[in-house]
Formats: sequence, structure tokens, C-alpha cells
Amino acid sequence: MSNKQLNDFMPGGNMTDNKKNFIGMDIEQIKQEMVMIGEKPFRAKQIYLWIYSKGAKSIDDMTDLSKSLREKLHRNYCVSRPYITNHQVSKDGTQKWLLKYKDGNEAEMVFIPEYDRGTLCVSSQVGCTLTCKFCHTGTQKLVRNLEISEITGQVIIARDMLEGWQLNGEKRKLTNIVFMGMGEPLYNTDNIISSLKILTDKNGIAISKRKITVSTSGVADQLERLGSETNASLAISLHAPDDETRTKIMPINKKYNLDILMDICRKYPEISNTNRITWEYVMLKGVNDTNEHAKLLAKLIKGIPSKVNLIPFNPWDNSPYECSEPEQIQNFAKILLKNKIPAPIRKTRGEDIMAACGQLKSESERIGKWQKK
Ligand code: SAH
Ligand code: SF4
Repeated sequence: MSNKQLNDFMPGGNMTDNKKNFIGMDIEQIKQEMVMIGEKPFRAKQIYLWIYSKGAKSIDDMTDLSKSLREKLHRNYCVSRPYITNHQVSKDGTQKWLLKYKDGNEAEMVFIPEYDRGTLCVSSQVGCTLTCKFCHTGTQKLVRNLEISEITGQVIIARDMLEGWQLNGEKRKLTNIVFMGMGEPLYNTDNIISSLKILTDKNGIAISKRKITVSTSGVADQLERLGSETNASLAISLHAPDDETRTKIMPINKKYNLDILMDICRKYPEISNTNRITWEYVMLKGVNDTNEHAKLLAKLIKGIPSKVNLIPFNPWDNSPYECSEPEQIQNFAKILLKNKIPAPIRKTRGEDIMAACGQLKSESERIGKWQKK
């Protein structure tokens, strides 16, 4: 284990089993715990700051608590981060971590540095049930929701690894978060909403609300809650402007078709107080990339403050599609621009370490099979 990651997590035989993890608790929950063990509620604030503002890796780090209180806390609580099982750095500076959770399941997170910001792409589930035809994660069979401690734990590890907790006047490297890693965030809405509250709390991790984006394949009936309870920016994985094409590549379109999805999207900026919706559009040669598709797309989102991210398809082993020709991606963008819709073409990052959009897939399937034996 690297020195940077010493914490109460013990892979294999585990001393933290049955202990409650402070990571993932909000201030109110910690207060309740303190009351339960007969301590004054104000202790919660101290513990909270240690975890989310000073990056404590263990109860022993909390040096302004008495030794006897620390011993008492040790009996029932821990500070447990996911365990880093692999870390790769791309030649373009992108970094990818494979994180293992207590039950042996794994999920990946990716950090993408840019000149004016650094974006952490976090996972919301191990695997994904939605089987979009172009996505590697969708081929992973074993799926479970990540817990609040496992979602916030990703950001905490990134802060440990990238910049530390106390900055001496330097700028933060990690400024933005996107829920675009493994999984469908809106199949895990409760935990995403609770995690967002912790990640944006000014007394703790303090990532600006406006710099967090949740990406969904279009789970329409969760959007109202996401917008009203979090004000998160929204990215919709649209990928096709008509039901026929969309259903072919995204089976979720059978449940929430474009009529249903667009209806709630039109209301989203107002519900959430955000200024626009980002539409993600993966460019698949001969499938969704003709000029006709571009015109239909412009028509579909007309009137909604929008940006379209055109994503060159990232291939993976035996993937069934090819990326559109660069010239056609340009044509597509031009048609959108003519309709006054900004349409940047996303630069592929971290491809050499399989960290680009849609390439993430952990080995948890194998662990799942092994556990069933
Ligand atoms: N499940 C959520 C968030 C994770 S996917 C969602 O679908 O929105 C993050 C983004 O990567 C989505 O827009 C997804 O459609 C896109 N993506 C998936 N596979 C891809 C691939 N092979 N190449 C490029 N983008 C891909
Ligand atoms: Fe799941 Fe998103 Fe991949 Fe579709 S694109 S399979 S929703 S992770």
C-alpha cells in the first residue's frame, strides 16, 4: 500500500468489518452517532473537519480529540477509503485508478488535467445494467450501486493523490467533477444526491456546485429530483435524434422515449437553476452521424439552452462500431453551429490507458464468479 493511502481499510482480513465508516456521513449523521455513544454533539464538527477538510486517514490523526475519546471511537468507527489496486498515467497526463471496495468489487475513476481546470470522472455503480451498444461498461455483467462512502471516497482519494489537503496558496488541481465513469447515476439517485451534498459543502470538500455535472442516459423520472435537490449541471447522453436510431443503440429508450425525455429536459434549467443542458453525442459511422441526423437534432433541442458535445467513438475489443470520419464530424458540428448550437468536438483523452469515455470496465465480473464458487 502506498504511504499516501494508509488508512483504516484492510484488504483481505478486515479489522474494519462491522465498524461504521465516518467517510460518507454528513454532519447530522455524525452528530447522531456522538449522541448515541454519549458524547457531546459538537464533537461531530471536529470529526467532520478532520475527514472532509483536513483529509484524516485514521481516527488517530484527529489529534485535537483526547486519547481516550479516540480509543472509544476506534471501537465502533473507522475512516476507510477504497483501496487503490492499479494506477496508470497516460502520455497526455490523464490518470486512471482502479479502486477496490470492501466486498472485492472494483470501479474506475479518471482524472483529466487541462490548462485551466482538472476534472475527476467518478463512477456511480460497479458495471452498468443498461447495455448501450457502444459502451464497454455496459458489457460488464456484475452490477451494484456504489455507497455514499464509495462515491465520496473517490474524490477523497483523488485529493490525497493529486494535491494533498492543505494548500499553501497554490491553485487546486481538482476543480470539476463529472459523473461519467462507470454506471448510471440515476439508478443510484439517493446515494448520488447525498454524495453531492457532502462534496459541495463549503465547510468540507467544497467543490463548487456549478462545477459538478451528472451524466445520465435519460432516466427521465429521476430528473426532477436531481434538479430540485442538487442544482447539479446536467448532461444527457442523447446519441440519436429519433426514437428508431436511439432504441437501436440505447435500450433505455424503450422505457423513456424521446417525447418523455425531452418533456422533462425542457423544464430542467428552471427546476435546477442551471443555465443549460449538455447533450452528449457519440459519433458512430453510418449509424447516427449523417447531415440529416444533425438537422433533426437541431430541431429536437430547439428552444432549450444547449451545448452538444460531439464525442468521437472510442473503440474497445470487439466493439461493434467504428468512429465517424473526422470530416463528417466537422460537417455535423457545422450544421449545429448554423442553428446557433455550440458543438465542440471532444478531444479524446487517456486512450492509451483505456481511460477514455466508454472504455471503462473493471474485472469485478471475475471476482463475482470467484465468490459464487
Ligand atoms: N451512464 C451515464 C454516465 C456514464 S457514460 C451515461 O450514459 O450518461 C459517460 C459518457 O460516455 C456517456 O455520454 C456515454 O454515452 C459515453 N460513451 C459510452 N461509450 C462510449 C464510447 N465507446 N465512445 C465514446 N463515448 C462513449
Ligand atoms: Fe451504462 Fe452509460 Fe455505458 Fe450506457 S453509456 S451502458 S448508461 S455507463
